[in-house]
Amino acid sequence: MNTYHKFDVVFDHGRGVFIWDKDGRMFLDFGSGVAVNALGHCHPELVKTIKKQAEKLLHCSNLYWTEPQIELAEMLSKNSLNGKVFFVNSGTEAIETAIKIARKYGKTKHENKYRILSAMNSFHGRTMGALSATWQTKYQEKFKPLVEGFEHFQLNDVKSLEAKFSEDVCGVILEPVQGESGIFLADEEFLKTLRKLCDEYDALLIFDEVQCGMGRTGKLFAYQHFNVEPDVLVVAKGLGGGFPIGAVIANEKADVFEPGDHGSTFGGNPLACSAGVTVMKQLLKDGFLQRVTRMGEQLGKLLCELWKEFPDKIEQVRGIGLMWGVQLIKEISANEFAKECLNQGLLVVPAGSNTVRLLPPLIVQKKHITQAIEILRNVLMKVGKKA
Ligand SMILES: *Cc1c(COP(=O)(O)O)cnc(C)c1O
Repeated sequence: MNTYHKFDVVFDHGRGVFIWDKDGRMFLDFGSGVAVNALGHCHPELVKTIKKQAEKLLHCSNLYWTEPQIELAEMLSKNSLNGKVFFVNSGTEAIETAIKIARKYGKTKHENKYRILSAMNSFHGRTMGALSATWQTKYQEKFKPLVEGFEHFQLNDVKSLEAKFSEDVCGVILEPVQGESGIFLADEEFLKTLRKLCDEYDALLIFDEVQCGMGRTGKLFAYQHFNVEPDVLVVAKGLGGGFPIGAVIANEKADVFEPGDHGSTFGGNPLACSAGVTVMKQLLKDGFLQRVTRMGEQLGKLLCELWKEFPDKIEQVRGIGLMWGVQLIKEISANEFAKECLNQGLLVVPAGSNTVRLLPPLIVQKKHITQAIEILRNVLMKVGKKA
């Protein structure tokens, strides 16, 4: 179906930070399939795991136990909320799960406790529940009526948040770092107030780390930068390193499901979970996340230098870890900019706020960053020139 403005290229294979089209042209991939290929393309350990698991057991119903699922649940839980885990196949499905957890939690308190708050400019997915939490009217307008009971506050604005809170709020969904809207960070004070309000009004705090989780920001999970723990943590994108899988981790308070409340045929199948275990093992290796931080600092520093060099073309540079946004002046379209990057051999991802996102694989090296910056400089020299 006609659902994407596709770029004019057919990709064939990849390796590490590079990807090739069917004619053999090589590109530097600073999009990672939108923060999915955390270990780059065809990471040898991930390929080995998937081959091995495919020869053993591809799928098994959730009526039964499998070892990869248990192992991944333990790894996720131990390294985050010490809670229970539910596996799904995508980010949006993980958000749907979190919404149901919040709704059920609310119902156990009182009948009208079903309101869910989320931030303006947020992105939580495309299915009806997740879409209702998503703010962007461009994603919502054509599909109304949405699910009832969703309201939005302004990110980092305590007054706007307080104005929406009441005893009827059962949950708040927030991206600690907004991705699709153009890389906007929540600030620590705001998150602390949010945590306090959730406790005061007995609402669950849900962090959507589908994009900013799994090592992307230099910590395993973005919330670990802020000393604010959610009740429910939602991850997907990078978790399988390219294999589709999502997960919801719920602390004891949010562990409300009973048999029959929720389910997923494919969720947490052994192939997906074995991929997840392999990704987790790599991220947890000594020094891995410290390297992400260092590479992120390098990327951020060079992007800020570009900003100084082209103040007439770049509006702002924002980011953390290996998650950066370059907001362009309104005369330069982020889509056209991304297209020109592609022409010059670099993949970047357009986002909201006329921003292009740089989300390189977490295994990126300094030389790749230098190369990407060179291409960006060439593109910046070319775009926005008066004819
Ligand atoms: C991508 C994304 C989603 C939706 O994930 P899908 O796998 O595309 O359904 C949800 N939340 C955030 C923050 C995302 O970046």
